[in-house]
Amino acid sequence: MTGSLKRGWCPGALRPMQSGDGLILRVRPRAGALSLDAMLDIAHGALQYGNGILDLTRRANLQVRGLCEKNLPGMHDILHAHDLLDETQAAEQVRNIMLSPLTSIDPAELLDIRPIAQALEARLTHDERLWRLPGKFGFILESGASPGLENERADIRLVAIQNEKGRIGFKVGLDRPETIKWVGETFENDREHLIDILANIALAVISQAPKDTKQVPRMRNLSFEKFSLVEKSARSEFNVIAQPDMRQAPPSSQESSRSEISSSCPLGLIEFENDHPILALALPFGSQTAQNWISLVEAAKSAGIVELRLSPWRTVYLPLPSKNCAPPLLEAATQASFVSDHNNPLLKIDACPGAPACTSAMSDTRKDARAIAAQMRFTETIKSIHVSGCEKGCARSKPAHMVLVAKSNGYALARNATVSQAPETLVPYDRVSRIIEEIEPLLGPSQNSSSTRKTIRA
Ligand code: SF4
Repeated sequence: MTGSLKRGWCPGALRPMQSGDGLILRVRPRAGALSLDAMLDIAHGALQYGNGILDLTRRANLQVRGLCEKNLPGMHDILHAHDLLDETQAAEQVRNIMLSPLTSIDPAELLDIRPIAQALEARLTHDERLWRLPGKFGFILESGASPGLENERADIRLVAIQNEKGRIGFKVGLDRPETIKWVGETFENDREHLIDILANIALAVISQAPKDTKQVPRMRNLSFEKFSLVEKSARSEFNVIAQPDMRQAPPSSQESSRSEISSSCPLGLIEFENDHPILALALPFGSQTAQNWISLVEAAKSAGIVELRLSPWRTVYLPLPSKNCAPPLLEAATQASFVSDHNNPLLKIDACPGAPACTSAMSDTRKDARAIAAQMRFTETIKSIHVSGCEKGCARSKPAHMVLVAKSNGYALARNATVSQAPETLVPYDRVSRIIEEIEPLLGPSQNSSSTRKTIRA
């Protein structure tokens, strides 16, 4: 079952990826949620079969780290018991759907989008023609619940809309490098018809790849000519051409950063008018120990909570039966190192797993990131820091106020930069614990922006 383990592969449960700390197994929740029973068993499985570390990914999936091949069957049994194991590697690889995390909870949304997500999951896993889609090809389904998925990217986007008569419908957009190309609107209330539209657009992308190769491109990577054909095919699915949507800002050419979204979204107790409170908890660096998960989930289960929602911005949401259970649960969450204060400096830092988890890493990035966070009182105006174990920069692709890239003798530091931009200075490892305090004496004028000095201080 795991004969095709690869480095750099987009991992799944049936096809884990090799990393420095063992195999990474990715769990794709169904319709964006995990039951607390499942989460508890997965956390116990991570302790028994893995190294006890669980990640929340940028696509709102869960990863179990540090497994070995002989332990995979045990982990698979747990996933199978909770209906989280697909039948084939090909089916799990295409089940890439993100939906508004607070759908069915936020009363401001237009509709509960979970049934559409479930129908799309079923189509993706049963229609073998769709299994040629590349592993990173994904769908976003937006219900109008807040926080939304405007800053996330996927190849095909379905957004709930409302017309002037109050009727609920959907518009569909395609991901291009600098924008979302909206192709059509429909107000037909037929879920299968909607799924047909999404599947047909995906098939149109597949038709642009040579038949004798598995190399189907992402939507954003299609050449202008090929995308024009896909767009024409997509438009033919609709009677109404979609209008530009001012609410739906185009994504930037860079991927969003989980840290900035975490620190801008409300955390802690969130109350809605419909009396469906939730608890929003962030995971620093998108990572948490299985033991801490067990502590949180056991407290949540005894408070009568049954599920959690996952987001792509390293925050999980617990729908509460009443707000009375929030105080003890917040205390349990804090003791288990979940973050409920959006001012916590850890949320300003993106740090990849680093050493020893990744064999390419030149440093223990997260240990250094915690040391930096402990000094953040000196410079509270720094909005974002990226600590990277190597030049690949897995944790963040957009610029950060301060980026640190590990080298053999210290961190290469640049301001208002990405990992690929020229460093301004080298910070020896033994000075990381004073980096915020010492940043100005260390740095000359920035070469990446004429106003960066102002940006750091102002
Ligand atoms: S940035 Fe480099 S060190 Fe960090 S996880 Fe990616 S490959 Fe590994």
